[in-house]
Parts: sequence; structure tokens; C-alpha cells
Amino acid sequence: MRVLVLTGAGVSAESGIPTFRGNDGYWRNLDPTKLATPEAFARDPQLVWDWYRERRQRIRNARPNAAHDAIARLARWTDEFLLVTQNVDDLHARAGVAAEKMVQIHGDIFVTRCTRCEFSYVGRGGSPERPESWATKSKSGRLRSIAPTSDDHVNVRWCPKCDALMRPGVVWFGEQLPWKEVQRVEDFLEGGTCDVVIVAGTTATLGYIIDWALCASRDGAELIEVNPEETPLSRFATRLVREPAAIALPRIVDELIAFG
Ligand SMILES: [Zn+2]
Repeated sequence: MRVLVLTGAGVSAESGIPTFRGNDGYWRNLDPTKLATPEAFARDPQLVWDWYRERRQRIRNARPNAAHDAIARLARWTDEFLLVTQNVDDLHARAGVAAEKMVQIHGDIFVTRCTRCEFSYVGRGGSPERPESWATKSKSGRLRSIAPTSDDHVNVRWCPKCDALMRPGVVWFGEQLPWKEVQRVEDFLEGGTCDVVIVAGTTATLGYIIDWALCASRDGAELIEVNPEETPLSRFATRLVREPAAIALPRIVDELIAFG
């Protein structure tokens, strides 16, 4: 069986990760859709980093829910499987979806990368805000390496290779999707049509989600939408499940495994 699963913020919301929509997403009375932009970062990198630090902390404290577990089970059971998630958290990975079966199309919040060169590092687990040392600028403007004392003291970071600002390794509003990750999705889609496509917890307002879901199901695959609300994808779905993902997905995966 060949399966494509697309997930969005709704899946992580059930683990307590606030979405960008609605009051939950607001932080210090600021709209996340305005914070997660290159413009906000250019204007106030400190503020944007403070927000990401809190989001990282919240994600570290969160646990995968029944939806993450169900998707991981499906990934293990299916020969040909790809999960494309808009979520930048690591909850799918922690539930057990292997890296080669997953594309984080909006990046990974635990990656810190340079705004100019290719330098990046992953701080998954532990405290990604506090690597053993990093470069900071002295008053003369020259780089020096310091050991961070606490998250509060290490605010804005500089690339140890090229001296530019470091930023979170996520895709902000108005930015392009990472080319390599898009390529991985397209390779999977070109590898054959799917038997089942599941779209869960995403409002599917971004065109590529609809494009990929339709492309994968072009030869009559079952296209299952799991979302409490109607989305632009709903009219294409062969099955609509108007329930939260953590309720619906365990049942759907059980059915697929039993009858697949
Ligand atoms: Zn750099």
C-alpha cells in the first residue's frame, strides 16, 4: 500500500502547541503571523528569538498525542509512505516516524541557521538555546567565543563562520519552501499514485497542500480529510471526518491496517 499523509497545526494543537490562528497563538499581545516574518526579524531579532525560545520550550514539554502515534503506526505498517507536515515541532519524530519517511516542509524549530551562509546546527533535546559555546560580538565588533550563562544572557546570536545573524530554521510567511524538501515530496509523487491520502489538521489554505493531495490521489485513491471544520480541500475529499485528529486518526489507521 502506498500512503501519503499531510498534517498541519491542528495535530500538534492537541498536544498543547498553540496554532497561529485564534487567541491562543498570541504572544505578548503580538500576532504570530506578523512575528514569523523576515521583516519582524530584521526589525527586532531579539523579540523574535524570545518568542521562538518560548515555543521551543513549550514543544520540549509537550508529548505526542494519539494522532502522532497513529501516524507513526501507519508509517511502520506501510511499505511506501511519506508524511509531509507543516509542523516545525518534533512530535511526529518523537512518536516514531523515521526521518526518511517525513518531510518538514516548513522547517524544524530546533535548527538554528545563519541568515547568510550555509552554517546551521540542530539542538534537538536538552537545551538548544545553549550550545557549548557560540560566537558573540565584542564591543570592538570582532567575534569571540563565549560560554553562555543562561538563556536570558544569550539573546541574539552571530554566525561563527561569517558573522551574520543566526535565525530559527523555519520557513516564515512570505518565504519560499525549502527546495530540497519540495523535491523529496515531488519524487514521492512521481514514484506512483497513492492508495490512500490523509490530510489532517491543516486548513489547507496553502495551495501546495491541495496540489499534492490531489496529485497523490489522481488515480482514484481514497482522500480522507480529518478536520473539525470545512476547508478548501473538503470538496475534493472522498471521506470527510469532522473530528479532532487525536480522536479520528487512531480509528482510521486501525481500519486501514485491518482491511488494507
Ligand atoms: Zn554564516
